[in-house]
Amino acid sequence: MYYGAIEAGGTKFVCAVSDDQFVIKDRISIPTSSPAETLNQVFEFFDQYSLKSIGIASFGPIDVNKNSKTYGYITTTPKPDWSNFDFVGTIKDRYPVAVAWTTDVNAAAYGELKKGNAQGCESCLYLTVGTGIGGGAVVNGKLLEGYGHPEMGHVLVRLHPEDTYEGTCPYHGNCLEGLAAGPAIEGRYGSKGDELEKADKVWEIEAYYIAQALVDYSLTLRPEKIILGGGVMKQKQLFPLIRDEFAKLMANYVTIPDLNEYIVAPGLGDNAGVIGSLLLAAETCEDQLYS
Ligand code: ADP
Ligand code: ZN
Repeated sequence: MYYGAIEAGGTKFVCAVSDDQFVIKDRISIPTSSPAETLNQVFEFFDQYSLKSIGIASFGPIDVNKNSKTYGYITTTPKPDWSNFDFVGTIKDRYPVAVAWTTDVNAAAYGELKKGNAQGCESCLYLTVGTGIGGGAVVNGKLLEGYGHPEMGHVLVRLHPEDTYEGTCPYHGNCLEGLAAGPAIEGRYGSKGDELEKADKVWEIEAYYIAQALVDYSLTLRPEKIILGGGVMKQKQLFPLIRDEFAKLMANYVTIPDLNEYIVAPGLGDNAGVIGSLLLAAETCEDQLYS
């Protein structure tokens, strides 16, 4: 018997199965196309295994409210055919096992807390800076969810004095995601982030925005660790710039861990979401046994 994991991204789906020690036995990566086509490939993969439970970490927005009629759905995504898709229902129809359901970044936060760079912590925050910006958190050992899931990428930030870019967010223009996700870098400078490695000003402005958000998250959630992942964070020079700006803005107002230990890269690399999903699959399985 295996635990199953689905990390559902806007570009690709990663499916994996593991034993009960969370050692991955098999995995595949499937390009995200239509729900029918993608799910057929997901089924082909999992049909090979006898599953105990499945953890799904999905791109959003998704409905995580257990009291809602559309719990388990992807809700309002602009991605063609995926809005109002009953993800959990579709998986449960095929595999009548316990299914854990959360956002890709909540699962990544959980994976990092249990097996990555936040081991030993009770709370941590995971922020991805990629095509979009999204944050997830574990607070006192539990995923942070309430009426919905966090949408940390859309917090508002102060504009850098030298930045005149209007931002890419269709809802808010110059929110954090609108100013600092990968497409904003490309929109502002006309080149992708990985081609701008040597342009110091680009990363100074990027850090200016990310640090502001991290101060806000720190003041509201007081996590023990903040993990920054996603394509844009492959620019490692961002880490010290973000820490410096964070220190300036925080101005020693509250006590926080040493910044070199507090703002870090993922310990699980690009596997945080998959490992987190496997762990959540195991937990949901136990919850069912004891409820
Ligand atoms: P996604 O968010 O789609 O899951 P990624 O986390 O890889 O995928 O993010 C993709 C975004 O990150 C793109 O906008 C891309 O330009 C940017 N990106 C990817 N690699 C790098 C890099 N090495 N340096 C800067 N930006 C990068
Ligand atoms: Zn926004």
